[in-house]
Amino acid sequence: EQQIVLASRPEGRPTRDTFRYETIELDALKADQVLVETLYISVDPYMRGRMNDARSYSQPFDLDAPIQGGVVARVVESTSDLLTVGDTVVGMLDWATKSVVDAKQVRKIDATLAPVSTALGVLGMTGMTAYFGLLDIGNPQSGETVVVSAAAGAVGSIVGQIAKIKGARVVGIAGSAEKIQYLKEELGFDEVINYKTEQIGEALDRTCPDGIDVYFENVGGAIGDAVLDRLNPFARIPVCGAISGYNEQADLGPRVQSKLIIARARMQGFLVGDYGKRFKEAAEQLGKWVSNGELKYEETIFEGFEQVPDAFLGLFDGSNTGKLLVKL
Ligand code: NDP
Repeated sequence: EQQIVLASRPEGRPTRDTFRYETIELDALKADQVLVETLYISVDPYMRGRMNDARSYSQPFDLDAPIQGGVVARVVESTSDLLTVGDTVVGMLDWATKSVVDAKQVRKIDATLAPVSTALGVLGMTGMTAYFGLLDIGNPQSGETVVVSAAAGAVGSIVGQIAKIKGARVVGIAGSAEKIQYLKEELGFDEVINYKTEQIGEALDRTCPDGIDVYFENVGGAIGDAVLDRLNPFARIPVCGAISGYNEQADLGPRVQSKLIIARARMQGFLVGDYGKRFKEAAEQLGKWVSNGELKYEETIFEGFEQVPDAFLGLFDGSNTGKLLVKL
């Protein structure tokens, strides 16, 4: 079997040399453990932060130790009463082809309800992030204008659709013509901006003639700056991520104090992990919307364990529409 370890701490953008493949021998199962075979590996932007040796909300990855992230796997051996062979589970596991873990470290998923990959996307971490960040902090009202950046990504695509369900007017910002078409034609966004080909300020003026009531921030930098110049009074800004700065050492802003004062706006960072007590509520609601067709989801799937580093790097190139996953 194989695993992927952090070979070096990247300065700036990670490369293939950030990662190293190793052959592993798995331990025999102790009591209350399972041997699982990896089916899907989730690659996520926050993992870039864990590659730095810096204090943050999650521990840095150790050098020369396996990288861990969201994984969907199948149980192939069990000494636990909780799980049997053939069960599908999700958890924070090593980037490995197989793993031995405590049964309590994973959660069983119902493979009859939805494709199991959705436990890493729309019905998992990224869907929950969209749900809580938008509804709890953004609180969009019918007729308001909601702007979302990285709009065609895992979180952004769900944010925009939930905002539509709540009756808002939705403007999505994304980085390619295909994504723009997807947002407009498949997901029904009201307006779309290609930040790579359009001048962002002009494009916001064109698409948000009545100003901006909610900005779901995924990228930061110049896009965040331009949106914050166009806030309506009492705007809300869930600060979910700032991917444009994850590989930079410099602080890219936005610079916000006077903008927040002028608009009496509220900007609030959040972590999906803080909503653990309400995951069931979110999973049920997201599941309902998916099954009644109100909520669509896309996955970009790289095939094969050897593709994991390239898939991760692809997040910074915008190579994904919807959730980026690797299928083993
Ligand atoms: P996505 O599926 O959105 O993938 C990342 C996307 O970001 C890319 O597809 C790309 O799309 C866009 N992007 C990359 N670099 C830049 C750049 N320099 N400027 C503008 N856009 C860029 O990832 P997720 O949905 O998983 O995550 C989205 C954001 O949410 C991230 O910032 C992430 O850290 C954050 N997050 C926060 C959580 C929380 O609890 N607070 C939980 C989960 C995610 P494009 O082609 O449009 O450029």
